[in-house]
Amino acid sequence: PVEHARAPIAQALSDLLEQVRGEDHGGAVADYIPELAKADPNLFGIAASTVFGRTYATGDTTHEFTIQSISKAFVYALVVDEHGIDDVRSHVGVEPSGAPFNAISFDSAGRPMNPMINLGAITATSLLGQGGADERFDSIRLGLSRFAGRGLQLDEAVYRSEASTGDRNHALGSLSRAEGMLRGAVDDVVDAYFRQCSVLVNVTDLAVMASTLAAGGVNPVTGDRVVGDEAARHTLSVMSSSGMYDRSGDWMVDVGMPAKSGVGGGIVAITPGKFGIGVFSPPLDAVGNSARGVAALKHLAHEFGFHPFARS
Ligand code: GLN
Repeated sequence: PVEHARAPIAQALSDLLEQVRGEDHGGAVADYIPELAKADPNLFGIAASTVFGRTYATGDTTHEFTIQSISKAFVYALVVDEHGIDDVRSHVGVEPSGAPFNAISFDSAGRPMNPMINLGAITATSLLGQGGADERFDSIRLGLSRFAGRGLQLDEAVYRSEASTGDRNHALGSLSRAEGMLRGAVDDVVDAYFRQCSVLVNVTDLAVMASTLAAGGVNPVTGDRVVGDEAARHTLSVMSSSGMYDRSGDWMVDVGMPAKSGVGGGIVAITPGKFGIGVFSPPLDAVGNSARGVAALKHLAHEFGFHPFARS
């Protein structure tokens, strides 16, 4: 059940939304994928879902947008659940890269630095399932849908736009395969990755997905165990160190919650054992994180005491 401005939490979230809306955070809607440039910059929504299955949401709570890089965190959880951390870690590292999301960033063992940048995410996607792009995407869509607790659909127009402008992602896939890290045929894997990024969610879905990680892998709304405790824990660890691209260090100081952003304007953040939070606002800052989303999460960290290292 989604509750709007009644409970104190919902009221606090809607006050927060109005406050951040009234501030000037700048940013620009992503335009490197033509279809993303059409997003309405005024859209803004915030949702929080407890590990007991209650969801509070305010603003544009049902507007759908593409999940983009937020999918990387959840696909990583699925891959770690399927293969175990040791196997996955021999193909994709867990070190922050300090580099932009589309960088060529390998460690000395030839592994992509981490699964939150495109190079590592495409490699992680290659480890999930097998076969052609359709089969690979089927298991991704099913897994993401279980995190959200409902059947998620593909945005065909964004997918086609990604696929027709995705030369760099093809190149990253080929480099990973050349290093012996990517499994399968590059074209199939990269195509599945483009579809993975083009899955439609709303901000409430993001909160439920995040709360599934907060609850150690069990979706608190459906009761479905989506991934094991360990896979959820490893995912939160990697999100902590690498979820916000080359702003991950600033993020730890300013917000501290494990988080993942996407160029569609969404961000998920987690207070382990308590809440999953979703924020959505399309204008992005210079590194590709939602500008209002970052501002809202900073307020949540400090005024709501959600920074994990704060003593009160
Ligand atoms: N589909 C995008 C890409 O691979 C995802 C990037 C992102 O959200 N940062 O370019």
